[in-house]
Amino acid sequence: MAKYVFVTGGVTSSLGKGIIAASLAKLLQARGMRVTIQKFDPYINIDPGTLNPYEHGECFVTEDGAETDLDLGHYERFLNIFTSQANNVTTGRIYQTVINKEREGAYLGKTVQVVPHITDEIKKRMLKLGKSGQFDIVITEIGGTVGDIESLPFIEAVRQLQWELPEEDTVVIHLTLIPYLKAAKELKTKPTQHSVRMLSQEGVHPDILVCRTERTLGPELRRKIALFCNVKQEAVIEAADAPTIYEVPLAMMREKLDIICLKKLNIIDYKEPELDKWKEFLDKLKYPKSKVNIGLIGKYIELQDAYKSILEAFVHAGAINECHVQVVNVHSEFIDDENVAEKLSGLDGLLVAPGFGYRGVDGKIIAVKYAREKGLPFFGICLGMQMAVIEFARNVLGIKEAHSTEMNPDTPNPVIDLMEEQKKISIKGGTMRLGTYPCEIQEGSLAFKIYGKSPVNERHRHRWEFNNQYLDKFEKAGMVASGKNPATNLVEIVELINHPFFIGVQYHPELKSTVENPHPLFVSFIKATKTYVERKSEAKSPMLQSEII
Ligand code: GLN
Repeated sequence: MAKYVFVTGGVTSSLGKGIIAASLAKLLQARGMRVTIQKFDPYINIDPGTLNPYEHGECFVTEDGAETDLDLGHYERFLNIFTSQANNVTTGRIYQTVINKEREGAYLGKTVQVVPHITDEIKKRMLKLGKSGQFDIVITEIGGTVGDIESLPFIEAVRQLQWELPEEDTVVIHLTLIPYLKAAKELKTKPTQHSVRMLSQEGVHPDILVCRTERTLGPELRRKIALFCNVKQEAVIEAADAPTIYEVPLAMMREKLDIICLKKLNIIDYKEPELDKWKEFLDKLKYPKSKVNIGLIGKYIELQDAYKSILEAFVHAGAINECHVQVVNVHSEFIDDENVAEKLSGLDGLLVAPGFGYRGVDGKIIAVKYAREKGLPFFGICLGMQMAVIEFARNVLGIKEAHSTEMNPDTPNPVIDLMEEQKKISIKGGTMRLGTYPCEIQEGSLAFKIYGKSPVNERHRHRWEFNNQYLDKFEKAGMVASGKNPATNLVEIVELINHPFFIGVQYHPELKSTVENPHPLFVSFIKATKTYVERKSEAKSPMLQSEII
């Protein structure tokens, strides 16, 4: 039977519960445990799929097509395992299940209530992965902050489980903040005391406190926190700000977070942590030998969480290339024909980002044109690939009105169009082309050189597609469809034959990049930009594709 770790948060949001949960999971995994992490979000949306990235950051898509919280991305990147629909549950989904059951008559004669019906459904889902037999330890992160009205049923479910399961089967970690007051030159523990009191009032007493802090907690302060919050002193863990999230597992290991958890869970059979690969990655990340500047052309750039997986994929690909990847955010809404050269000057490669809707697409198309004409390494993802197709149609094929029907439903030349099955769909939630699909890659293509195999499986989240009626024209003029879905013939990859590195993909490779398995497309893209920089500094002739891969 699996054991359960619950992670709650206090004082304020954005303390990094997801990173702490993922770091603990990494350590337990490195000690030989089979671990998974799940996130319970207190909001009423069924999933974050319909949320604006400004509200919620990136929507992370799993293999099975679940649209989930971006913390699942951290879980996958740290653990190198796939998560699924079961790993992300919202209040909305819980209520939907209970209400459907009520309509079916499952509770005939009974009044349906938060306790026990909603909490029963929460508990069932909290235990689901643990009961699958696939895991020794299930870590459950509760979204939000203790004291929020919305998170009460989740905390209540944790209380009941602590009481129902054997004492040694659960451990509760509370993540909190120890702020430093400059004027008083002191770290303050009062917010933590209040937050633990609040959690205790809701019936849950934490076993471990992970304290986010900008300064070192001395032994005195640890003793004070332990005393006032009623936890063992060794269970007061310092989580100081780290230069990169990938340092956090090692910092938590130094603080013995894993050992304290294992002790509480009465697990004695564990090994020394195997973290060689992780440390090797960190070394490469910390001591790069070169640097490249990548332009991230997007419209949500004010909020870095909107492109979380892309940014992390760059970190992974940079490390393996021993290269520091400096991402330069360029707002696509402010790029025009006049300023494009100035806006993109000094960049060694462009990534045109995914996105939805009309805003900012003109700037993306102009940026693609610049990369195509200047021989600058180009990588387009989803909407970024669609923009590359439109740019090619307009400026190479001369189809001036070419567009996507997403932006211009009346275009006479819909080079990007809705899939047939999408045309009948009016409901917005969970109805895009979602999750993993196979892609067959043409031998000899740039994509084939990058992946070194075919077919590959990649994750999707979109409604529009390359319109195959135009494919012949494109291929004759030099933009080829090097990757296609074998069952439907949908175009998955486009590339330019007369360009050193120009590739667009309809899927989201960033979702599958992990520390241990950096995504080949990102790795090759960074390699291409490195070569581009070398050629630039040697003032040689433009680079060739054969030099890169
Ligand atoms: N808006 C585009 C579509 O739905 C692209 C989506 C994306 O970039 N994820 O097809």
